[in-house]
Amino acid sequence: MDQRGGIDLGGTKIQAVVVDARNEVLGAERGPTPTAGGPADVAEAIADLMRAAAAAAGVEANALAGLGIGSPGEVDSERGTVGQARNLPGWEGSYPLGETLERELGVPVRLGNDVQVATDAEAELGAGRDYDSMLGVFWGTGVGGGIVLDRKPWLGRGIAGELGHVVVRIGGRRCPCGRHGCLEAYAGRGSMEARARKLAGEGRSTQLFELMEKRGRTRLTSGIWARALDRDDDLARELLDEAVEALGAGVASAVNLLDVEAVIVGGGLGVRLGEPYRARIEAAMLPHLFNDDAPPAIRLAALGDLGGAIGAALLVGRGGDGGRLAPGAGHA
Ligand SMILES: [Zn+2]
Repeated sequence: MDQRGGIDLGGTKIQAVVVDARNEVLGAERGPTPTAGGPADVAEAIADLMRAAAAAAGVEANALAGLGIGSPGEVDSERGTVGQARNLPGWEGSYPLGETLERELGVPVRLGNDVQVATDAEAELGAGRDYDSMLGVFWGTGVGGGIVLDRKPWLGRGIAGELGHVVVRIGGRRCPCGRHGCLEAYAGRGSMEARARKLAGEGRSTQLFELMEKRGRTRLTSGIWARALDRDDDLARELLDEAVEALGAGVASAVNLLDVEAVIVGGGLGVRLGEPYRARIEAAMLPHLFNDDAPPAIRLAALGDLGGAIGAALLVGRGGDGGRLAPGAGHA
């Protein structure tokens, strides 16, 4: 009965895990996020994947101690609702995701913000274990941020950690959020793709879209950016250089404000580009760091792709205030 379920609900995929009392993964299952329909279809897909992950772990889903879900959008963990999840199909109003899944699976359900639970997982079990305060930087389609202070998640009034919308250039490029000059407008993979399409359309030569088609993709995934770099693609290099500069300024600004001990870099691009880009982000921060004699540690996320779902499972059994994270809890 010590097994818990965790769901990382993303715009393109849903990752389900079952973990034991030591947070070791016993079973995992991944599937695509429905692209049509509405919240009820997404809830059904979650329930199916959870049952499959439980089967892989050798337990019945309704025997789990509970299920945690890391969700995008406006998450109300008290009410168990998710609203305004723009990356999910037909999800405009507020939907009782918690209640729906409790009924469907017969176990208690806890909701949390997707980026924050991934940060909590790194703080409790991953690269942030040795630090009391940290900033999680999730560099992927967008740029997400999660904050841990004195080993507690800092949620602000609910949406703290929106690192991607820290302004790095007044009156700068337009961000997917509609504002101008945000970090995400320069470093988000979605924004980088839009920029690459525009420049390619104006005649800049690049292998990015050729690589994309060859891989049977319709989007520039992190893997495609990495491959283009391997081939010395000028445009890919230029856009990634710009992203690193913006990350340096944005992350350094957050560190100047919070003075955290560590910055953990994850997300699709962060994990895929790995150590060389971790080092480049560190170097790009330095000119902007007020306390440049004692910069924070910059580490790569240690839990990789499963971090979000493992972090969601940590929500189960935690107190109403988000709870205190275990100091350096054991994890292989
Ligand atoms: Zn923005």
